[in-house]
Amino acid sequence: MATLSLKRKLAILSDAAKYDASCASSGSEKRNSVGGKGIGSTEGHGICHAYAPDGRCISLLKILLTNFCVYDCAYCINRVSSNTPRARFTVQEVVDLTLGFYRRNYIEGLFLSSGIIRSADYTMEEMVRVARTLREVHDFRGYIHLKVIPEASPRLVEQAALYADRVSINIELPRDESLAALAPEKDVVGIKKAMGAVRLGVDAGREKGRKAKPPPFAPAGQSTQMIVGADGASDGAILARADSLYGAYRLRRVYYSAFSPIPDSAARLPLARPPLIREHRLYQADWLMRFYGFERTEIIGETEDLDLAIDPKLAWALRNRGDFPVDVNTAERERLLRVPGLGVKAVGRILDVRRFKRLELADVKRLTRGVEKLKPFLVCADWSPGALTDRADLRERVEPQQLELF
Ligand code: SF4
Repeated sequence: MATLSLKRKLAILSDAAKYDASCASSGSEKRNSVGGKGIGSTEGHGICHAYAPDGRCISLLKILLTNFCVYDCAYCINRVSSNTPRARFTVQEVVDLTLGFYRRNYIEGLFLSSGIIRSADYTMEEMVRVARTLREVHDFRGYIHLKVIPEASPRLVEQAALYADRVSINIELPRDESLAALAPEKDVVGIKKAMGAVRLGVDAGREKGRKAKPPPFAPAGQSTQMIVGADGASDGAILARADSLYGAYRLRRVYYSAFSPIPDSAARLPLARPPLIREHRLYQADWLMRFYGFERTEIIGETEDLDLAIDPKLAWALRNRGDFPVDVNTAERERLLRVPGLGVKAVGRILDVRRFKRLELADVKRLTRGVEKLKPFLVCADWSPGALTDRADLRERVEPQQLELF
């Protein structure tokens, strides 16, 4: 096999990493400064943006160690039967790239995933060596996110968590039977076992009252990714799986990744990608469960799909009009959080401001992005929706404002 230049490897292995959404990069049009025009480029290989636990946006070098893989997951471009160009970094190359980019201030960390070469243990060992070399040899203090191969031995999973800030173990698909059909080498029991081991380690690190502080163990927690639209799973089934994973393994994030049709894909896979708005609605529903106090069952039944035209909070409010309007000057935080269009920050600001004055509609307008969507659901010092909340055509009146968002 011809020797590939480092640049070519970087091009292949950063492109192969783009399918992993658990560190999502923002889409941008292609621009560069070739020919001396302008400064900067959006075509640079492998740099993506992620959010640190404290909310900071950080740039990460996002690459695979290799896109060779001995598994044959039907939905994956890197599967053994795929015709894609292949490349493989050495451990030292990943270390050097990370340090080189870091010193030039291009990145603040590394996101490293990999196809499986030889065996799960061999591959995981190589990934751990990258992180260990960065931490122990170079005293690298930047952010490291390692993708854990669930079939690797518990000792290696533990080591990954000791060197990384965050680890992620992909659940891949929302239903066990889909995983068995589309990724026959993967095993949902093994995936959950690995997640459970990481949870135990993270919990132990956070235990209060321990005399000796244990070494950091995935201090930014663990996350997972689910592919949406590769099987026939409903949005309700996807969110039920996410809800149970959050509960059982205390995940920091579940990432929903719309299935991308791949060349030479298996006939059982869909030919088209699901609409991106579906991914977006799933994230909105996910946030309602995590930050707005909604139970999954309030948002959606297990066999149902989310309404793509309106966000799930508005859909819930339209189904539960008896709970509205909510008085912005007296309602508790939990009730304010259920008002369509009021986010966590806006509710926090409302609670602050109303200690000093009675809020009018103009005040709410200043504290939120748009007040029109709120009006049917809110009472202010100078505003009451009257019969507006119960109008038969309420959905039609608020829906155009929803569509404008996308
Ligand atoms: S194990 Fe990972 S890289 Fe390999 S085919 Fe499956 S999803 Fe792709």
